[in-house]
Amino acid sequence: MSDRAPGFSTLAIHAGAAPDAATGARATPIYQTTSFVFDDVDHAASLFGLQAFGNIYTRIGNPTNAVLEERVAALEGGTAALAVASGHAAEFLSFHALLQPGDEFVAARKLYGGSINQFNHSYKSFGWNVIWADSDDVESFARAVTPKTKAIFIESIANPGGVVVDIAAISAIARKHNIPLIVDNTMATPYLLRPFEHGADIVVHSATKFLGGHGNSIGGLIVDGGSFNWVGDDRYPMLSKPRPEYNGMVLGETFGNFAFAIATRVLGLRDLGPALSPFNAFMLLTGIETLPLRMQRHCDSAQKVAEHLAKHPAVEWVSYPGLPGDKYHELAKRYVPKGAGSVFTFGLKGGYDAGVKLVSNLKLFSHLANIGDTRSLVIHPASTTHRQLTDEQKAASGAGPQVVRLSIGLEDVEDLVADLDQALA
Ligand SMILES: *Cc1c(COP(=O)(O)O)cnc(C)c1O
Repeated sequence: MSDRAPGFSTLAIHAGAAPDAATGARATPIYQTTSFVFDDVDHAASLFGLQAFGNIYTRIGNPTNAVLEERVAALEGGTAALAVASGHAAEFLSFHALLQPGDEFVAARKLYGGSINQFNHSYKSFGWNVIWADSDDVESFARAVTPKTKAIFIESIANPGGVVVDIAAISAIARKHNIPLIVDNTMATPYLLRPFEHGADIVVHSATKFLGGHGNSIGGLIVDGGSFNWVGDDRYPMLSKPRPEYNGMVLGETFGNFAFAIATRVLGLRDLGPALSPFNAFMLLTGIETLPLRMQRHCDSAQKVAEHLAKHPAVEWVSYPGLPGDKYHELAKRYVPKGAGSVFTFGLKGGYDAGVKLVSNLKLFSHLANIGDTRSLVIHPASTTHRQLTDEQKAASGAGPQVVRLSIGLEDVEDLVADLDQALA
C-alpha cells in the first residue's frame, strides 16, 4: 500500500469494509440478526455502559449498518455517522438531540416538501418551532435567529430543484451565533459537494435517493462533522449534561468530536427506534460503490436535457444551475463544479393543465414521487408532493402550477430527449 490518501472512488468501494473475519466473504455480508451474544457478563456490562464499542441489538447498531456508516462518514469527511430507517428519521433524530420543547430552529423555505410538512406540523407537537428563512437572502437567516434558536437547517442543492445554496455564508451566521448548521446533502451527495468543507456541522441524507441510487431501498444517514463544541454548553443538555441512563456520563466530554453521532444513536435511535434493516444497508452499500460513475452521468445527461428544454417552444423557462445565465450559475460553479445534479424544474407555457398533460404523455419517464433513481422520473409538484401546501407556500417553495420536476436517470440521453419531445408535442 502507498501512503497516498485514497481518492473518492476508492473510498466509495472500500471505506469501512474488510473481508469478513469469520468467512472471508469479500462483499459485506447482511448480518440479518436481531441480537449478538456477549463474550461474558463483564463484556455485556461494558457494552451497556458505553465503556466498549460492540454489538448488542440491531435497533442500536449492526455490523452491516456499521460499514455503511463508516463509508458515508469517509465520503463526507465527517468523524462518524449513524444509519437510520429513512431520510426523515435522520432529520428527526438530529433535531431530537438538539431541541427541547419551546426551542426554535431556522430552516430554508425551499426544501423537500416532506421536510416542510414535518417541520410545520409534526414537529410543532413536540414544541419544536420552525422559523423560515430565504436561502436567496442570506441575511434573513441572521434576522431569524433568537436566543431560543438551536440549529439552522438547509439543503445544499434545494428541492424541488435548481437552487444552489451559499453554505459558507449561512455557516458564517451559524458560527457567529454559535449554532450548529445542519445540511441535507441528499440532492448533491458528497460526490458533487461536501458540506463540511464549507462550514456545515452536521450532514443528513435521504440515502433513498442518489446514495442508494436504484430506487429500491429507503434509508437515511446522519453524519457528524466533529466541528461543534458541545462541552459546557447548557443549551444542548443531551450532549452537555450528565445522562442518568448512562451513570451520569456526559456524552460531549466522553466522545468529543463524534459525540453528536453517539447521542443520536444511544439516546435517539435507542429510544425512538427508527432502525435501518441490515438488508437495506446492504442495498445502499452496493449502490454507493458506483456513486461517482452514476452521479457524473446523471449530471451530464441533466445538462443536455436542460439545454434542450431551454430551446423548446412549449417551455417558458428552465431552472438548472448548469445553464449559463441561470440565477444560480455562479454559485454552481463554486459549489458543484462537476455538475449541478440531476433534478431540476421547468415551467410550461400552458400552466397547470399543461403540466398534468405532459406527465400523462411521457412514456419513458415514470410519474412518481421520488428522485435519484437509475430511471428517469417526472412529477408535477403542484398536483402531488406539494399539494398540501397553500398556493403561497407552493410558490415560495418553487412548486407553482406550471412547474414540472425531472430527475434525470441513466438511460441514453437521446431517448430521454425524444420522449420529452413527443410528450410536449
Ligand atoms: C426524500 C428526501 C428526504 C426524506 O427522505 P426519506 O428517505 O424519503 O425519508 C429528505 N430530504 C430530501 C432532500 C429528500 O429528497
